[in-house]
Amino acid sequence: MKFNFIPLGGGQEIGANSYLIQINDKNIILDAGSNPNYRGFRALPKFELLPKKIDAIFVSHAHFDHIGSLPIYASLYKDVDVYMTEPTFKLSKRMLHNTINNMLEQKKEKVDLDDYQFLQFYNHGLLNYMYSNFNFHKIKYDRFVTMKNSDIQFKFIDASHIVGSAGVLFETKGFKFFYTGDYKLTAQSIEKGATFEKYVKDIDILITESTYATKKSNHYQEESSLLLNYILENVRKNKKILLPSFAVGRTQELIEILGKGQNLFPELKKIPIFVLGLGNSVTDIYKIYTDLSDLKNFNKNEMKTLIQKNGAQIIIATNGMLMRNTASFDIAREFVQRKDSCIIFSGYVSPKMPGFKLLQFSALSKLFKLPSQKIKISKEAIKQFHLSAHADDTELNGFIKSSGATNIILVHGDKKKIGLFKKNKSNLNKNVFAPVNGELIYYDNREKLLVSAREQQAIIVTVGISLLSNFRRISKKKIDYKTIVPLLKFIEETGIKSSAEIESIEKLRQKQVNITEGKFYLLVSDTKDGRFVGKVLKLYFRTLNYNVEIIKIKGLVPQAKEFAKIGLVNFINSVADIIEKHSGNAIINATGGYKAEISYATVLGILYKLKVYYLFDNFEEIIDLPQLPLNFDFNYFKKYYENMEMVLNTASFEYAKDCYEKLPEILKPLFFVNENLGKFYLTPNGVAFMRAYKNDREMMKNNGGNTIFDFFKMSH
Ligand SMILES: [Zn+2]
Ligand SMILES: [Zn+2]
Repeated sequence: MKFNFIPLGGGQEIGANSYLIQINDKNIILDAGSNPNYRGFRALPKFELLPKKIDAIFVSHAHFDHIGSLPIYASLYKDVDVYMTEPTFKLSKRMLHNTINNMLEQKKEKVDLDDYQFLQFYNHGLLNYMYSNFNFHKIKYDRFVTMKNSDIQFKFIDASHIVGSAGVLFETKGFKFFYTGDYKLTAQSIEKGATFEKYVKDIDILITESTYATKKSNHYQEESSLLLNYILENVRKNKKILLPSFAVGRTQELIEILGKGQNLFPELKKIPIFVLGLGNSVTDIYKIYTDLSDLKNFNKNEMKTLIQKNGAQIIIATNGMLMRNTASFDIAREFVQRKDSCIIFSGYVSPKMPGFKLLQFSALSKLFKLPSQKIKISKEAIKQFHLSAHADDTELNGFIKSSGATNIILVHGDKKKIGLFKKNKSNLNKNVFAPVNGELIYYDNREKLLVSAREQQAIIVTVGISLLSNFRRISKKKIDYKTIVPLLKFIEETGIKSSAEIESIEKLRQKQVNITEGKFYLLVSDTKDGRFVGKVLKLYFRTLNYNVEIIKIKGLVPQAKEFAKIGLVNFINSVADIIEKHSGNAIINATGGYKAEISYATVLGILYKLKVYYLFDNFEEIIDLPQLPLNFDFNYFKKYYENMEMVLNTASFEYAKDCYEKLPEILKPLFFVNENLGKFYLTPNGVAFMRAYKNDREMMKNNGGNTIFDFFKMSH
């Protein structure tokens, strides 16, 4: 069973939630969000980590941080199957079109090149294309469905976060894992509480949101009656009330709370209630799927002039954190200029958002661009309640327990909380991970435990065929490719001299290099001999209790042309892949294999600052190749990067030649030209430098500031 998990967004953050799962030969995406704190390319998950093929996308619910990047996936993977509930399907369509309208609005105000380029393809046309051509599957709760062309079964389970929200239970050959999406076990006003505990049992891996890990949230029913009482209090004082609110979920919860309020307190029925912004049309979709209260004196009015001169009124307006260019921000701007108004937040407000500044009650004139004498609202009129649609600490721990999982992956939560959670739970024998974006977590079948590749060292071993030639030479027998038994016997009898790989690994161990905890990657050529040696060595190292994976390198064959152009490039990319998966925690043993592999392994060692080991035939001891006193200046590289991209990617050969000529002499050897095809290519060294440069740039980036932009420039 192969199970890999890599967050592309949403790792130690609430951002562009999107997770890649590799289960056997299938690549699955869980959620396709955008980071609401950013715009354009910056808001997207790390698409540069995506594999060439995606088999399925599962969408847990229709909040923007779970669906925002779906159109980008649509443009990259045209045949992918997408699974979600029907309400999520309808809501996502509404939400995404609205997002584009908002961006177009914003564009009028401030033309930013990045936004402009983003909107070139993230537009209504793409959405229409996606909704008419994508393979959307509308899934109902509580029944197993087979994922297309696979032996993976899955079941959607009500997550009770918003309408249509679901956790997804996966099962294949008895192996079970569960992704919660956003969820709440206890009841809100409309949502009755997730049914996870009923259906999710004896699972191997739990992937859970952790928004409120380590935090106890206020009891929803109590908090909502406090909120209702406070609204009532202000209505009695003839106040105008603004309830900033998220369009999906909270707006309808507030309608329901007010509906119940109207039944309890008939005086509320006389007060006009408005819903403004996106929340309005979302409410229509809600009415299809829920028994939402019909409010008395409810006004559908998109007009800003609805603020009445006298008397109480209630306005529920999108967005909940007072994001700029939304109805709630506009109404708040009107309300701060009045004494007879109050603004009531009903949930969490991010410190990055205007709503937070309003709650702090500082620099309001700057916030709303108003002269200070115009601010009439009092500090007391700004109030916050804490309704939450997420599982709190008690619910989270309760569910972890009832799920039976020992392997827990925490996502969708900030770093500090996750750290605390891990500390708390360490005594419960749970294997808890909170991977950062790009970090690989994989399942170790022998231990039945998840392991973080970053925390585990990669031991990259180039593998040749010395085992076979030694076998032929010493035992004077022919190789029978059908069975590995004679070879294993040969190793047992001959000892470490049986193969270069076995000898060098033994010498490494003697040198006190700690390799027992690491993960072995045996790089074999994709030939009959290569695969066969790989098989034998894998089994042999496993008997020594090492964790081993075979990586087959295509084109690593004795034919000169294919070797240089394909084999070495594949070799370099494979080694770089492993190094990056382990966040640079890797060593290379380049003793086995082709001579050329060692020189390129050394180049990679320098570029990634790794140790490269080599056992020379006549040396007794394995040596670490001296780290050369070189440090490649990536800044220099950066200066010419755009130009190098042009050399490789521009359609005009003439122009590519021009760009090539403009490069400094030192960078030219990284390219070779094929005059017949009219195209420049990277040499193996060129590939190594480009890879290492991109990785270096990744490492430099501060968390959350991903510039996906470069990726798109490359792929277009
Ligand atoms: Zn959500
Ligand atoms: Zn979320």
